Amino acid sequence: MLERKRILVTGGAGFLGSHLCRKLLSFGHEVICVDNFFSSTRSNVYELLSHPNFELIRHDITLPLHVEVDEIYNLACPASPIHYQSDPVQTIKTCVVGSTNMLGLAKRLKAKIFQASTSEVYGDPEENPQTEAYWGHVNPIGLRSCYDEGKRCAESLFFSYQRQHNIQIKIGRIFNTYGPNMHPNDGRVVSNFIVQALQNKPITVYGDGSQTRSFCYVDDLIDCMIKFMQSRDDFIGPMNMGNPAEFTILELAQKVIALTKSSSEIEFKPLPSDDPKQRRPNIEKARHELGWEPKVALEEGLKQTIPYFAKLLAAK
Ligand code: NAD
Ligand code: UDP
Repeated sequence: MLERKRILVTGGAGFLGSHLCRKLLSFGHEVICVDNFFSSTRSNVYELLSHPNFELIRHDITLPLHVEVDEIYNLACPASPIHYQSDPVQTIKTCVVGSTNMLGLAKRLKAKIFQASTSEVYGDPEENPQTEAYWGHVNPIGLRSCYDEGKRCAESLFFSYQRQHNIQIKIGRIFNTYGPNMHPNDGRVVSNFIVQALQNKPITVYGDGSQTRSFCYVDDLIDCMIKFMQSRDDFIGPMNMGNPAEFTILELAQKVIALTKSSSEIEFKPLPSDDPKQRRPNIEKARHELGWEPKVALEEGLKQTIPYFAKLLAAK
């Protein structure tokens, strides 16, 4: 067992946060989960509520937080374009004011802090695959900018706190991740397609479906996040976290239809503005520094995710 720590997970009731809380508890740590339920409900952590080492606090990280912890994972922020664009001002505040609050907490406590950054910092990239050295191609005033620029500013804040106050930071740039515990109305592509396919409804492909994404199964991602947090102090990132296998959105739709044995047809819808045309991580840093690489191929991960959504739909 690892040394037992008290760990704060912001956004802990969300998709990734709920998996992280569960994993940290399984290692014997104490977990304080903070969430304002902007894009989640208690259901993801419901079964953890009775765990003796788990505590759930309803709180918005744009407001100061006073807890005593050894480590912080800052995941609070809606990740789905539909959610983060529904209240763009709150999204920016969560990224900037929320991160500042969490960094202030880390400074007071001398706690190590992980920031859930994103492949969105690369915007609509002109390089493929994206390495961490690429500075990105982001529209600073577009519909996605509340999230993209919010996360870029958060990275800048993390580095500034590190340089100015010697805080121990870790910045992970997460690429599209999927799996159980995604909200069925989350709006992201994997959840949308599976829910549509299971109901034999049209699969909504935006644009002509030739845009690409690289999909990482949640277990691989959480494994990477925890290994990163445990890595040597002077390895602070930014580090790409994701699965480099790249697929077009149309290929994803066809895979989901086949795996669910659905009679759904594909319906082409307008492409949202600033939708990145391609996205694929170069993960050499994670391979080299952590000895990590994803193990779960897309088809296998989809097979593990489909029953989760099927169960939710059946319960309705
Ligand atoms: P999610 O929307 O399921 O979870 C985010 C959680 O943060 C939700 O529970 C939400 O209620 C909470 N939250 C939002 N604003 C908050 C605030 N101000 N105070 C407290 N809680 C707040 O999304 P996710 O996929 O679990 O993403 C988690 C983190 O990882 C996010 O920071 C996201 O930007 C980042 N990320 C995720 C992906 C992905 O593919 N899943 C990709 C890139 C980055
Ligand atoms: N997409 C789609 N149909 C949907 C939802 C998303 O074709 O019902 C596309 C979207 O336009 C984008 C890709 O799938 O090109 C991934 O979208 P998602 O919202 O999951 O995340 P993004 O990577 O854009 O942040």
